[in-house]
Amino acid sequence: MLCSARAKPYTDGVGAGFHIENFGCRAARADGEAIADRLRAAGCSDQKFADADVVIVNTCSVTAEADREARAFIRRTRRANPQARIVATGCYAQRAPEELARLEGVAAVVGNSHKALAPEIVLGLAAGREQADGLVPVGVLMGPMVLADELFAHSFLEEAQVAPGAQTRPNLKIQEGCGNRCSFCVIPQTRGRSRSLPRAAVLRQVEGFIGAGGRELVLSGINLGRWGRDLESVETLPGLVLRIFGQTALARLRLSSIEPMDWDAELIGLLAEFGGSRLARHAHLPLQSGSDAVLRRMHRRYRPWHYEEKVAALVRAAGPELTLGADVMIGFPGETDTEFEETMELVRTVPFGYLHLFPFSPRPGTQAWELHAERPVPARAVEERMAVLRTLAAEKTRVHRGALIGRELEAITLHTPAALAAVGKTSALTENFIPVEMEGRLEANRLVRVRATGLTAEGALAASCTSPECALSALVATD
Ligand code: SF4
Repeated sequence: MLCSARAKPYTDGVGAGFHIENFGCRAARADGEAIADRLRAAGCSDQKFADADVVIVNTCSVTAEADREARAFIRRTRRANPQARIVATGCYAQRAPEELARLEGVAAVVGNSHKALAPEIVLGLAAGREQADGLVPVGVLMGPMVLADELFAHSFLEEAQVAPGAQTRPNLKIQEGCGNRCSFCVIPQTRGRSRSLPRAAVLRQVEGFIGAGGRELVLSGINLGRWGRDLESVETLPGLVLRIFGQTALARLRLSSIEPMDWDAELIGLLAEFGGSRLARHAHLPLQSGSDAVLRRMHRRYRPWHYEEKVAALVRAAGPELTLGADVMIGFPGETDTEFEETMELVRTVPFGYLHLFPFSPRPGTQAWELHAERPVPARAVEERMAVLRTLAAEKTRVHRGALIGRELEAITLHTPAALAAVGKTSALTENFIPVEMEGRLEANRLVRVRATGLTAEGALAASCTSPECALSALVATD
């Protein structure tokens, strides 16, 4: 477990193994991967949390449950590995740094505002320093270093090159923060205003990814549709996608979640032009509620009919093979049976391929925290609504995937779990975001065509490979 003594003076030749535990959304995971990449580049090695010298807990704070999970992991680390220096970072570290600093074993709390400094703080701790050189903690409580403020001056982790590795289809986070003020959301507090990775840096990353053998790249952000609006030469996401297609040989690009009103005619037009070839026919539009009144209380910037219009335009552009996904929040303060039924009705109407369902969780410092104090939805009603919506969502997923049986689809092979490999199959993901269990063994990161033959018990597409390479010696057991 060696961390080399190279460039950075604060490493001082001290050996270190690190473990990073990521919680939360894709964007948070992308942050975690970037921190880990930088530590590896500095010569540190991955370890299990029970053996590591430094354990980084990359927290989420989107719900009270997410906070609890982070605290539980820190306690577990403390028990299993009392010598470890624990660094808490991420959204919880930004929202309530003192809470985390009070936990036993925590050596540093690094909010999103200072996340870009996390790797050097870890290296400093590995070298036995309580404070890495040149860093002035904004608060020190009984020992732990606490770095978190509202300036977000050190929050972008753009330097680590994304490459296919443990993740065949990594995320490239090109946008951070959010300037919207949805009344339930803690993100404007935990990640600050919207900031964009400059176009030149994005293109460099894409070139580097291709150079490292990458095929499918996921562009992600906290509010991805806002990419470019804060740049000096105001740019747009569709313009960036066109540049990527025009100036690089990237085989496939996937866009992660984009707010409904950011799906403008230009972006939808890209799906008509490149959908199914270089651009994945996959659109994730957070819905949250199908009730006009609830959306207003949430301060969301669209009404249910806007949402339906956007979906209709997307399906016209990309065809019925488009996989549509959404987040839906259940039990927002004051949600009545009628309002919930409006959500059910909208979900019935829209051809969703999957839904992510979340119970409302009050977050301190948000407007909805106070609304919840005034008009909470009883926990029992939330559970019942979650159950009926879960059943409807499962049915919609089954119908969407079932309609693909007999079709040929583009897919990318993934790292296959051992149990599946043992029965001679390969995991893959179709261009339109459907998990596949493919006959035959193929290494990860191959672009193939598959013919869907049915659905597995878990709801994945069962498929055979129709690419010529599958018939040849390319079928190998490598994972
Ligand atoms: S759009 Fe709304 S829900 Fe999404 S990150 Fe911004 S404030 Fe939060």
